[in-house]
Amino acid sequence: MIASVDPERCAGHGACVSTCPEVFTFTGDGYAEVTVDRIPDELTELVRRAASECPERAVLVESS
Ligand code: SF4
Repeated sequence: MIASVDPERCAGHGACVSTCPEVFTFTGDGYAEVTVDRIPDELTELVRRAASECPERAVLVESS
């Protein structure tokens, strides 16, 4: 699985960072970004949850 944050949509709420800090972090501008190229299998459920919880629908996930 690959994940990304759409910088045009992200509003910096931080829900994704709270849900899965192993994958999401804040940029210096206060928005979120993904820190890994490929989501480890053990974190895919958390990343899917982060995507569904994002109020801006800014977390994008795709199977790989
Ligand atoms: S939950 Fe969504 S809007 Fe909030 S920081 Fe994460 S990607 Fe951005």
